[in-house]
Amino acid sequence: MDVALARSWIAAIAAAVTEQADYLTQLDSAIGDADHGVNLNRGFTAVVAALEAADPTSVGDVLVKTGTTLVSKVGGAAGPLYGTAFRAIGKALPAESATVDAAELGAALRAGLAAVQKLGAAVPGDKTIVDAYGPAVAAFEKAADDGLPAAARAAAEAAADGMRATIELHARKGRASYLGPRSVGHQDPGATSTWLVFKALADVTA
Ligand code: ADP
Ligand code: MG
Repeated sequence: MDVALARSWIAAIAAAVTEQADYLTQLDSAIGDADHGVNLNRGFTAVVAALEAADPTSVGDVLVKTGTTLVSKVGGAAGPLYGTAFRAIGKALPAESATVDAAELGAALRAGLAAVQKLGAAVPGDKTIVDAYGPAVAAFEKAADDGLPAAARAAAEAAADGMRATIELHARKGRASYLGPRSVGHQDPGATSTWLVFKALADVTA
């Protein structure tokens, strides 16, 4: 991945989040407060503008800038969680590198997951972002030797499976946890946007 590809990834996430904003908000209206699509759309629109202005020269800087902008522009649970993830991903990459390989990106994605879990204290099965992100990172790492496109494709598929598996889960973190057992039967909005993030990576690397 080079700087241009990193920027394409973020632009593809922004486009997907805009396209799916109503869907994400609809999912959040069932078990939350109906703002997930609005939150992420505002955040990634601001990220695209921030990257234009900053013109970062390393892959790590693209992702740190993405995270910093999300933290400052997006409220709710998802802004700090996604912001922290992207910042951790960017910081875990070799400093100043204009290109990173699949193994380096896999390790950085793993650092992003650790940061999300440190901040939000969610474990697998809590019906959160972690339920799509965890399987996606594991699949990415497993396929990293086959190159970035294969790793990204495997990660997107695992994220989709994890996202669908949240339907049957009882939420134990975030707003949906207030519903207790009534959260069962609904797909988690954050796991769904995490799938969009990995699908965007697969799309731009294909
Ligand atoms: P809010 O819940 O504050 O309105 P959003 O609607 O933007 O924020 O995001 C909701 C999503 O955030 C949930 O669907 C869930 O996936 C994710 N989430 C909530 N709490 C946590 C947590 N502690 N760890 C990981 N993800 C979480
Ligand atoms: Mg919400």
